[in-house]
Amino acid sequence: MAAAMTIVLFSAYRSFPADVQGLGHQSLGMLSLTASGLLFCAGPLIPEAVLLFAANSTMLGAAGLMLIGTQLFFGRKPSWWWLALAWVIGMVCLVGWYVITQDYALRVAVFSLLTLSFYVAQLVLLVRHGERHFSSWFFGTLLLVQSLVLLLRLFAALSGAVGTSNASNGAVQGIFLLTANFMTLMMAVGFMTIATRRLQVVMEHRSNSDPLTGVLNRRGFAAAYHREVALMKRHGKPMTLLSIDLDYFKAINDQYGHAVGDRVLVHAAHTTVSALREIDHVARFGGEEFIVLLSGTTAEQAKATAQRIRASLFEARGGDVPDYTVSIGIASQQAPDESLEALMARADAGLYRAKAAGRDRSEAA
Ligand code: GH3
Ligand code: MG
Ligand code: MG
Repeated sequence: MAAAMTIVLFSAYRSFPADVQGLGHQSLGMLSLTASGLLFCAGPLIPEAVLLFAANSTMLGAAGLMLIGTQLFFGRKPSWWWLALAWVIGMVCLVGWYVITQDYALRVAVFSLLTLSFYVAQLVLLVRHGERHFSSWFFGTLLLVQSLVLLLRLFAALSGAVGTSNASNGAVQGIFLLTANFMTLMMAVGFMTIATRRLQVVMEHRSNSDPLTGVLNRRGFAAAYHREVALMKRHGKPMTLLSIDLDYFKAINDQYGHAVGDRVLVHAAHTTVSALREIDHVARFGGEEFIVLLSGTTAEQAKATAQRIRASLFEARGGDVPDYTVSIGIASQQAPDESLEALMARADAGLYRAKAAGRDRSEAA
């Protein structure tokens, strides 16, 4: 099972975009678990001491690498120190087992506690940073079950119910080994569900945004516009469109080159987004023109917003882009049934007037 899931995770690691982090480490974790399984099975072929150290190291490594995969997935710093510490504790415990007391239950308790810490850490990460989505609930439930199984195993060990070796036939031991095998498969399935969900989010984001500036593209803007129209129909909320065009942009391209022109576009997009509220929408359909949709905003309020955008662009001057100004056309949607094309045509009429009146200003249609 672990070997099969290593291949599934590795293939996802190779084919998913780099925005989906952690698949590589999860896959290595599964590989480590496969190695651990093989080692535990290779009992008669390898000297017991070597086997115990190797099999337990790879088992701890597996749980640690999976935690690191999940940490990377959520953009956290990987806790390599934790894995190293757990490994040292585990190995000290094994040495103690040989030198001081061959207490199988104590060994099980220590290793259960160490692996438990890795799964609980993953669960905490998921609760704190996971998206509210079915995939998170699913993976979270699996992590919880896995943690509870290990906790149970810990208590069983402390109360002496685990027998005297991995091969002893107690009921608790049997149930644990069965669950452990099943959960191995499920852990990878769980991680794959959050990874595929992330893939979907990344792809949707890509198909809705402009690759140069990161603001919405035509497609993303149309979706945002339709959501706002629905709000307008339901709550009668007004909305206003700004059509923003950079002044004499061709001259910037001619004078400084296309690459600097591109930087100006990125600068204009970012400055505009920072000057607006979270609920407003900024889009670029190509070229050097931006469209802004101001949610719940009247034409009068939009005039102040247009001023604010121009003031922000003015304040953000300097740095690595040449100075530039913008002209803005403003048009408010009058009724829910007015089309986006009609609204944009009116905003463009305002923009045309702003250009004709000397640029670096805003005009309502
Ligand atoms: P106006 O003040 O009348 O708007 O003049 P303008 O020079 O800004 O307008 P015009 O439409 O004449 O020129 C727009 C320029 O924008 C021409 C085109 O090469 C440039 N442009 C369009 N898309 C891009 C892009 O993605 N990157 C860069 N660097 N330039 C672009
Ligand atoms: Mg222009
Ligand atoms: Mg233009």
